[in-house]
Amino acid sequence: MTLSAQDQSSVAAGRGIGAAREWIRSEFERYAKDCGGCLEVKTDSFTEPAGDRIPQPTEITNVYAVLKGTDAQSAKRIVLVTGHYDSRNSDTLDVKGDAPGANDDASGTAVSLECARVLSKLKFPATIVFLTVAGEEQGLNGSRHFAAMARQQGWEIEAVLNNDIVGGDKSAEQDHSVVRIFSEGLPAAATEQEIKRIGGLGGENDSTSRQLARYIADVDLSYDVGVKPLLVFRLDRYLRGGDHYSFNQQGFAAVRFTEYREDFHHQHQNVRTENGIEYGDLLKFVDFDYVAAVARLNAATLASLASAPAPPANVRLLTKDLENVSTLTWEDPMGDRAVGYEILWRATASPDWEHVEKVGKVTRATLNLSKDNLIFAVRAVDARGHRSLPFVPLPER
Ligand SMILES: [Zn+2]
Repeated sequence: MTLSAQDQSSVAAGRGIGAAREWIRSEFERYAKDCGGCLEVKTDSFTEPAGDRIPQPTEITNVYAVLKGTDAQSAKRIVLVTGHYDSRNSDTLDVKGDAPGANDDASGTAVSLECARVLSKLKFPATIVFLTVAGEEQGLNGSRHFAAMARQQGWEIEAVLNNDIVGGDKSAEQDHSVVRIFSEGLPAAATEQEIKRIGGLGGENDSTSRQLARYIADVDLSYDVGVKPLLVFRLDRYLRGGDHYSFNQQGFAAVRFTEYREDFHHQHQNVRTENGIEYGDLLKFVDFDYVAAVARLNAATLASLASAPAPPANVRLLTKDLENVSTLTWEDPMGDRAVGYEILWRATASPDWEHVEKVGKVTRATLNLSKDNLIFAVRAVDARGHRSLPFVPLPER
């Protein structure tokens, strides 16, 4: 719990958020040692001022590890996986009682850690950041600080995978073959003018976060990870929020992974038994094989994106003339590894891309299809078939 103890003796006794922080740091450091120092282990500490769910100024620490990209040009591109390591009891201000948080969100924290352990054995052209944040239950404080820092420092984050409640609670109605992927429709960071354009052109289903969600579904077709992504086209569940939103607010593509069916007796509850019902977020309710499958889906997505060439820049759809063909233009990022580009399209009423056409190493293509009836996007491909996230063009007059 974010407001719990973090003094030396509590850390030594293995109690409180400070002990959790130090354990995560030591795990990252262990993986770093195993890969010859390939991971840089860092912390992002700050004092959160008093607020709604924070009675007094509180130090919050995000712990993360950076697997730097091996390609000088691609290394500034970042893909990120995160989970929150704080938890809570029935009373969100209870700083003393045990709040095991096995599913919410030790499961997501474990996904981030395990991705770091496994992917640090490999090399990728682009950079991967493995993040664990605190303060989620008090108001997304850790992720808000981290995302703002990333924006301020000009980090080029292409994708954020937020894993929150991916334990596959062992309730009778659980579906362990499915994990939900939530993504925003209208971008939280869009300006009023952008919202107007999106509304006018039917772009409500094409935020960068939604392209990321579709990308994950595509990754699942290439790798048998043991769990199927179920895309949910909304920011989050009713009455709930999560750390992906902090990144969305800063204009980054970010989605949320959550188990198919949550058991609300096992979240945000003091550990107890009442009328024969067991309450509390205990480890025994977590399905480890399920968490492992979700981790594989995350790892495959991170590896695909970190291997892919940079997406095309400044993708445009020419709209100056009334015509029944569609011309797209884009820029080829300098010194990048793309060997060609692909144009994707679908009917406006279709949820996912339906067609793809290879157009080679060009920066302009005309298709004998009407832009009035379709939605287009462009993505880059490298020599080994790794694909970037697709980008939907802005209209250009
Ligand atoms: Zn959570």
